[in-house]
Amino acid sequence: MPRRTLVTGGAGFVGSRLCEALLEAGDEVVCVDSLITGRTANLARVLPHPRLRFETWDVAEGLTTGPVAAATRARVDLVLHLASPASPVDYHEHPLETLDAGSRGTRAALELAHAHGARLVFASTSEVYGDPQVHPQTEDYWGNVSSVGPRSVYDEAKRFGEALTASYRRSLGTDTGIVRIFNTYGPRMREHDGRVVPTFVRQALAGEPLTVAGDGSQTRSLCYVDDLVAALLAFADSGHPGPMNLGNPRELTVRRIAEDVLAATGSRSPIEHVERPVHDPGLRCPDITLARTELGWEPLVPWEQGLERTVSWFRSLSGRAA
Ligand code: NAD
Ligand code: UDP
Repeated sequence: MPRRTLVTGGAGFVGSRLCEALLEAGDEVVCVDSLITGRTANLARVLPHPRLRFETWDVAEGLTTGPVAAATRARVDLVLHLASPASPVDYHEHPLETLDAGSRGTRAALELAHAHGARLVFASTSEVYGDPQVHPQTEDYWGNVSSVGPRSVYDEAKRFGEALTASYRRSLGTDTGIVRIFNTYGPRMREHDGRVVPTFVRQALAGEPLTVAGDGSQTRSLCYVDDLVAALLAFADSGHPGPMNLGNPRELTVRRIAEDVLAATGSRSPIEHVERPVHDPGLRCPDITLARTELGWEPLVPWEQGLERTVSWFRSLSGRAA
């Protein structure tokens, strides 16, 4: 009997790649997504698949009611809970929905996993470290986060989600695991989702200025989506409780990301310095010793190659030439 896996947020950038990989591995997949930031087009390749069932639904409304009830009443072996707006532009536009996804949505996913005796993996984020004072970030660092700042709707929702997840494990014995995902990029990011890679690639291909926030000396460590999906699958199988950092430790300044995008696209767009967002973290780099040791996982796609694939994908969207 194939494993029956529920993916929340499965029509998003990461979730859709994950659904494809699960189907390739032989799972039966139930994908639940409200489409607040995702698109069914992301699932175009697998929507007709006989082992995929897709339901448009808000997880914060519960997972045993409405149109999802029929799909969740049957056996569920694994819950991968990814539903949440993820880009700063998106969570600023949907602050309450973001808080609900991390709180009520996570509770609903945990309740379902507990009722079925299933394992649940909670997709947390490097944002729980806030603007970090420990670098690179290790899992035992508690973070430096404002509970009332503009990013708090996302950061604190994820921190609350982690607390809920850890609590279900501790008090109810639910098989849970927490992963802290660092900046991930690749095909299927929306041109206007506001995150740094799709924004710079879109701007470069359109011949518009690349909007570098501040002096661009802040850093991010960028992981190609296929590497992240491989890590998520390995983590799901491992039974590890987490929290576990998942990301690519190669650290780049935002200025360097802009320069690399210009080189990869052959664009002559200028760089324009714009105001830095409030509480924009200055540094971010995962220590992935735990993932290496426990999962035997290593990111395999170098930034240059991942960027090339991402640029090709953005070009194919609009048929733009260099
Ligand atoms: P995304 O916006 O492309 O995907 C999120 C998906 O969740 C979307 O399809 C959206 O419609 C869906 N969703 C949101 N709220 C929902 C709700 N209440 N009910 C049902 N569906 C809902 O973002 P992504 O980059 O694919 O992120 C996926 C997950 O990974 C998120 O939980 C995010 O916090 C986490 N994450 C991503 C990154 C990254 O760099 N991509 C980094 C850290 C953490
Ligand atoms: N950034 C930028 N220009 C943009 C979009 C983002 O300079 O048009 C910067 C942003 O200020 C941050 C980094 O790129 O320092 C990563 O931003 P992103 O929104 O991708 O992710 P997050 O801040 O959540 O890590």
